[in-house]
Amino acid sequence: MSDTLLSYKTLTTERFEAVNKELENKDALDVLKWAYGQFGDGLVYACSFGAEGMVLVDLISRVRPDARIVFLDTHFHFKETYEVIKRVKAKYPKLRIEMKEPSLSAEEQAAQYGPELWKTDPDMCCRLRKLQPLEEVLQGAVAWLSGLRREQSPTRAHTQFVNIDRRFESIKICPLIHWKWDDVWNYIKLYHLPYNELHDKGYPSIGCEYCTLPVEGGGDSRAGRWSGSHKTECGLHQ
Ligand code: SF4
Repeated sequence: MSDTLLSYKTLTTERFEAVNKELENKDALDVLKWAYGQFGDGLVYACSFGAEGMVLVDLISRVRPDARIVFLDTHFHFKETYEVIKRVKAKYPKLRIEMKEPSLSAEEQAAQYGPELWKTDPDMCCRLRKLQPLEEVLQGAVAWLSGLRREQSPTRAHTQFVNIDRRFESIKICPLIHWKWDDVWNYIKLYHLPYNELHDKGYPSIGCEYCTLPVEGGGDSRAGRWSGSHKTECGLHQ
């Protein structure tokens, strides 16, 4: 592996392809070891504390027990999500888990943009409560980790281990791209990891309470997100 440190500015398309080629037969733990070797404390995990998040938190704790993890706290999450974060903090006390909040409270947002912005303009709502906070987080980081898996949706089918993230002018590392839904759950059960109780109530993918529904009859794992609207991603992943 090259020993030159990567950054968004030095990661040319050729370099990015070469790095992914070097990593192509590695597993998620190897990718994490490589990423923390490259970026050290400049690497931050933006965790949503879904099922993939539980796996990635556990793998990260094996590589970097005091890793920095950020949760984008929109203030609109389910109580079950806040509960699982508490359990993760208790299980991994060395991890630095931060709650990153939007600059506007729910009331301020309603006063400025009108009530129920998640219905009238969900893209703006996500921009205010997720994208802008993540921009602020990534200004102080070189690269970020995400639990994206290729099988999750057509928009994620071509995700690489190492991705040029033009939206945030960063490098996005996705160690779980090859994991299947069953792999995720086998790992959670094998290591008795905490997980969001909503997964047992038909929610495969869990975001804000206003925009997440259970999925019936084995629909695709993200079918319950922004159900009934054109929206399929919050804008963090493009
Ligand atoms: S997921 Fe829904 S409630 Fe959450 S920030 Fe986006 S639009 Fe707003």
